[in-house]
Amino acid sequence: MLKDNLKSVEERILAACKRSGRDRSEVTLISVSKTKPIETLQEAYDLGVRVFGENKVQELDKKIPALPDDISWHMIGHLQRNKVKYIAGKVELIHSVDSLRLAEEINKEAAKKDIVIPVLIEVNAAGEESKFGVSLEETKSLVYEVAKLDQVQIKGLMTIAPYVVDSEENRPYFRKIKDLSVDIANENIDNVCMDTLSMGMTGDFEVAIEEGSTMVRVGTGIFGERDYSI
Ligand SMILES: *Cc1c(COP(=O)(O)O)cnc(C)c1O
Repeated sequence: MLKDNLKSVEERILAACKRSGRDRSEVTLISVSKTKPIETLQEAYDLGVRVFGENKVQELDKKIPALPDDISWHMIGHLQRNKVKYIAGKVELIHSVDSLRLAEEINKEAAKKDIVIPVLIEVNAAGEESKFGVSLEETKSLVYEVAKLDQVQIKGLMTIAPYVVDSEENRPYFRKIKDLSVDIANENIDNVCMDTLSMGMTGDFEVAIEEGSTMVRVGTGIFGERDYSI
């Protein structure tokens, strides 16, 4: 099942790239393995998967040491300041920076380890009450503030679009995030690069790719439904 799912997601990514005149190499597939057991991740690894996304520090803490070390781990979930220390230096990218205080904490932990930590600014594109992230209006000023921190590097923006039945409904949000990233890139802010757009999940990754996504985060489409009862 995992093998077929991966193949089908891969085909859909490729088709979306073709439709929008993009090269497949411009889009990274992040396999979102949250709630899945280590054996399932190992199975995906054996099928060639090297990029995994998790949304909880505790899970990353358990899974990173248990799996091969050529995996690139992405922290895609809400991050509490007191947990930054557990993942600093262990993940490729933190997708969920939505406050200056969190960025300052990341900067502090990066300084202790003498590293630079790459991050994305999470934007709540649809202004949903239930979601984390800064508003479209606040994003640029947060970017300017975070850019002043020496050991955090902004790589781009991330968004979690609303849950919708028809993915076309999310196209305007993806477009807004893309436009905002171009706008920010044009300001040539020191220490800020805007080449990463993390947007698109199982229900809407094709539309996200058509609108310029460079990282799609796909969980259900690869691993099947999640069971939160265990
Ligand atoms: C769970 C999760 C995903 C994957 O969601 P699916 O709909 O299962 O593909 C993507 N991004 C974030 C931030 C998540 O928490």
